Amino acid sequence: MSNLWSPRVHELKPYVPGEQPKMARLVKLNTNEHPMPPSPKVVAAITQAATDSLQLYPDPESTELRQTLADYYQLSIDEVFVGNGSDEVLAHAFQAFFQQDKPLLFPDISYSFYPVYCGLYQVTPKQVPLDENLAIRLQDYEQANGGIIFPNPNAPTGQLLPLEAIEELLQKNTQSVVLVDEAYIDFGGESAANLVPKYPNLLVVQTLSKSRSLAGLRVGFALGQQHLIDALVRVKDSFNSYPLDRLAQAGAKAAFEDEAYFQVGRTAIIKERERLTQALIGLGFNVLPSAANFVFASHKGQAAAALALGLREQGIIVRHFKQPEKIANYLRITVGTSEQTDALLAGLQSLL
Ligand SMILES: *Cc1c(COP(=O)(O)O)cnc(C)c1O
Repeated sequence: MSNLWSPRVHELKPYVPGEQPKMARLVKLNTNEHPMPPSPKVVAAITQAATDSLQLYPDPESTELRQTLADYYQLSIDEVFVGNGSDEVLAHAFQAFFQQDKPLLFPDISYSFYPVYCGLYQVTPKQVPLDENLAIRLQDYEQANGGIIFPNPNAPTGQLLPLEAIEELLQKNTQSVVLVDEAYIDFGGESAANLVPKYPNLLVVQTLSKSRSLAGLRVGFALGQQHLIDALVRVKDSFNSYPLDRLAQAGAKAAFEDEAYFQVGRTAIIKERERLTQALIGLGFNVLPSAANFVFASHKGQAAAALALGLREQGIIVRHFKQPEKIANYLRITVGTSEQTDALLAGLQSLL
């Protein structure tokens, strides 16, 4: 009965998330979750919020959480926006800033949700090719545009841009919003959050899904000057005034208050990433330098698709993108626990 659909729904090309298999005891290295549970203080805060007041609507402005984030990044509360996962924050940003006459620029190999939002919000995309080392070259973005968006580090390549390069772009590109999607910044990069007071067109978006072990809670946020945040709030309040429930607000706040736990978790991933990288190189892989909680690797002798399939048969799941061609021979492997790394390496060894 798809004749009942709004005509434009036929045209949508929805995002396909990495598989969330229902089987137990898989070595799940396909969607960049943190292998460790969230801080016990997060769980305590969520439990408390659940006991106290779940019959009441949450604070529509997430005031306490936004103040905590503002303090953490040394910004004012009016420079912080929160949403139901950074995907929602990104969606609102597409609507708030990128519906322009000129195209939105983003890397040809990048987060595959960007073209999906272009389709949903009728934003014209213009994909800018990565260089021959699969790196973003920001000079290529110095052209007419109605906005620029890229992840830093980029996904799925894991490669990091230095802050100086981003600042140089901001100095040249002053007439449209530059959105830096920092989903993985805590695993080895320097956040552009510090540049917010200096650049009126910079929007930094982050998530608690990766480095804060809270993919299940669905919290993301944006940092930018107040005139940008105001636009996001207008879109949000025209869509859903209560995007963050009481549990999410309480848990996210507690996560940012437990700095020690955060540092332990992120340091463990960085250390494990280096071990995984060296071991993969030892097995004959070419591994791109990663500043994220995943590595992007291609084998000199074996096709990526066959390796992904062979791992799967052993209960080990990694991400393989058939498209585009340029990356079809790469595997994106999430950095997990040492035990998961050992299982992955053993699995690969049996296939090579
Ligand atoms: C994971 C990811 C997101 C989305 O994170 P959520 O907060 O879980 O919605 C956004 N951008 C990039 C590049 C990501 O990898």
